[in-house]
Amino acid sequence: MGFAAIKAESSENWRTLFYDFLDTRLDKIEQEYPMDDLGEISKAVFQERSEIMGQMILGLIKRKYGHLLNQQKCDCSDCGKSMQRHDKLSRTIQTLAGQFELERPYFYCRACRFGYYPLDEALGLSRSSKQYDIQDVEAWLSSETAYETASETYERITGVKLSEHHMYETTNTIGQEVGILDVCASKEEIYKKIEALSENKFRSPIMMLGLDGAHGPMRPEPSPHRRKGKRGKGEWKEIKGFRLYLIDGEKIIHLISWHQVCTDNELAEYLVKIKEAGLIPEAKIRLGIIGDGAPWIWNRCKEIFPFAKEILDYYHCSEYVHGVANAHYGKETKEARQWCEATLTRIHFGYHEEVLGGLGKMKAKTQEVQDKIDRFYTYLTNHCEKMHYDSARRGGYHIGSGAIESSNKFISHTRLKRSGAWWYIQNANNILKIRCAKYNGTYDKVIEKYKRDDQEKIKIKNKINRKNLRVVK
Ligand SMILES: [Zn+2]
Repeated sequence: MGFAAIKAESSENWRTLFYDFLDTRLDKIEQEYPMDDLGEISKAVFQERSEIMGQMILGLIKRKYGHLLNQQKCDCSDCGKSMQRHDKLSRTIQTLAGQFELERPYFYCRACRFGYYPLDEALGLSRSSKQYDIQDVEAWLSSETAYETASETYERITGVKLSEHHMYETTNTIGQEVGILDVCASKEEIYKKIEALSENKFRSPIMMLGLDGAHGPMRPEPSPHRRKGKRGKGEWKEIKGFRLYLIDGEKIIHLISWHQVCTDNELAEYLVKIKEAGLIPEAKIRLGIIGDGAPWIWNRCKEIFPFAKEILDYYHCSEYVHGVANAHYGKETKEARQWCEATLTRIHFGYHEEVLGGLGKMKAKTQEVQDKIDRFYTYLTNHCEKMHYDSARRGGYHIGSGAIESSNKFISHTRLKRSGAWWYIQNANNILKIRCAKYNGTYDKVIEKYKRDDQEKIKIKNKINRKNLRVVK
């Protein structure tokens, strides 16, 4: 006997109906399953769980919305005329807790030529049979691991099949609607953290903005003009990202991470959005910006944050120095070490002119070495304003970009760099947004917003259908 056997007409007896169902189902379990040990007993219950729990949910729906299940009359929300009730129609509903068939009345307004299900709207049902709590888990799992593994994980844990394709579709549907401010904590939450740090302090706390790039395996979007089956060649593209955090002594207080495959300008626009949303209150903090020598990091920062202290990652700078020393004096020689030490000390204390002077006098043995020296000369000239490490450190700023590098690794590398995986940029960005939300502690907020927007879309779609004078079934 299937679960359709239960057809409640009254909301009062939902418990009785559920007990009857449970009784029948227990008979079935007793008859059909071998239950010699706990493993087998548990398996029997596990396999029936979804339907049993589904019936319990259905019972509770009857309890709450019995009037909508048995509704005979309904006024059109548009023209106010009484709508005609049609037969009940059935649809499959799957939630994390269980699965059931929902038979609910359909109403149709002849004047508006529009029909709908009042109960679906009251329950806030998704168009998909898989409801929002399942979609939440789909996006959660798929942003951690390959879709295939996510699908298998879901089945092993819930006992319910869910295809790899559905995982993919749901995750991207959720991801593509996520904007940068959706993954950020609110202004109030950020201010609270700043205020807690400011208490009894003479100077404002330091907020660091770290920027970093990572390369991810991307392939071109499928073009409508390209012949079917032919796929563009993949290439490594830069995932640009930033992390905002507060410095609390030895600790850091994370605020916001955001990583996307995007252009310099798009990244700058994201920063502007955060700034305009008031999430970087420059009057309450001292802002430090840190990154390596990549031009995209610095080309717009001064313009967006004119008062920030810009700091070139000390380790990036010291790698440069080591490269020059090893090339000129011989790898790991005493002279190389001494030159490194002296040069880094000068840079640290802001004697950049002296270093530049020394570089100018260096006589390279080969053109290759000369090129290295010249490149370092340019690097130092371009970035020396960001190399006042001694004063930066005394001010309490970070001079290394470890904090952004570690979030970058966690957010971008772990999911995107899997062997054999080449990503469409759009899909990679969808995954990145979801991972950023998790990292920022805003994942639940993102899912709530997705639900709200989706419900809104369903209503708008109904309205449009109404205007087009089509019947919605
Ligand atoms: Zn109407």
